[in-house]
Amino acid sequence: MSVNFLHQLLIAPIPYLPKSLVWTLSRRYIAGTDLASAFDVVRTLNNAGCCATVDVLGEDSTTREEVEQARDLYLAAIAGIDRKKLDCNVSVKLSDFGLRMDAEYCYAAIRELARRAKEQRNFVRIDMEDSSVTDVTLNIYQRLRNDFENVGTVIQACMRRSPDDVKHLLDTGPTHIRLCKGIYLEAEEIAFTAADDIRVAYGVLLEQLFVGGAVKVGIATHDPHLVEQAKGLIERLQIDRSRYEFQMLLGVAENMRASLVGDGHPLRVYVPFGERWFAYSVRRLRENPEIAGHIVRNLFTRH
Ligand SMILES: Cc1cc2nc3c(=O)[nH]c(=O)nc-3n(C[C@H](O)[C@H](O)[C@H](O)COP(=O)(O)OP(=O)(O)OC[C@H]3O[C@@H](n4cnc5c(N)ncnc54)[C@H](O)[C@@H]3O)c2cc1C
Repeated sequence: MSVNFLHQLLIAPIPYLPKSLVWTLSRRYIAGTDLASAFDVVRTLNNAGCCATVDVLGEDSTTREEVEQARDLYLAAIAGIDRKKLDCNVSVKLSDFGLRMDAEYCYAAIRELARRAKEQRNFVRIDMEDSSVTDVTLNIYQRLRNDFENVGTVIQACMRRSPDDVKHLLDTGPTHIRLCKGIYLEAEEIAFTAADDIRVAYGVLLEQLFVGGAVKVGIATHDPHLVEQAKGLIERLQIDRSRYEFQMLLGVAENMRASLVGDGHPLRVYVPFGERWFAYSVRRLRENPEIAGHIVRNLFTRH
């Protein structure tokens, strides 16, 4: 049976499953539907020695009202983080801020968030979405970092263009990067698709970022091989703890997470929450057969 066929078999019925069942499948990875639930999870993570980043679930806003709603929720998030003295920043998908609808409107909204985050000594990470928006996302990041130090974005190791993007970013200003493998299914012409090739690319990019002087690098992976490699690189290049942090998704690789924290490495957990968890779960499951596999496996595993 081909992987694709298996994937289709696993995920085709998901949008038709009862919401309560999809919730059971996804809840390990999602803090809840509101900010209060996200803050509870962040507090628990902070108590366990991890910092966090909250992500309001949502993508592809199509009206200005939706963009304003998303922006206001993020503004409430940074205000709450400040008030509750949580060790937490925010991660944003620009499509949630209307990128595909009106890129300038999106820029104005994310700029407002960056400005308010700066006032509250917080940080805004711009997630990277699929390849149709890589250029415009990097462009908005570069415009923002001309005025704000408290913004960063994401580089996907799977993308063949990434070494050039990293070089350009490092050559042109202070660079805060989260490095991940990349979750979107992309064409072979523009992306590595074999797991080994993506791993090799990841190692090369991580070294490029450290050696090239990135202000801070988020090492976002649960791949034990890459985590070991990163630890070796940090040791070899004598990278100060202020210049990196490991990053993991809520509910994933918790043992490895605890062991990294136990060894004194900075570690941030990505905490998604929001009303739109159903659409998010279905889309994630559809996009990535591996995740469909993980979630289905979770259904049969005791926690
Ligand atoms: C903090 C963070 C932020 C991210 N931001 C982005 C982004 O902005 N843009 C983007 O394209 N991608 C993003 N990603 C996703 C990333 O690109 C990968 O798709 C994802 O992390 C899986 O790759 P991996 O490096 O963990 O390696 P994999 O080889 O996929 O996973 C290694 C091991 O981790 C475990 N694992 C991994 N993922 C899951 C899961 N979801 N559920 C259960 N177990 C799992 C499994 O045990 C697996 O064997 C982010 C990931 C993290 C951790």
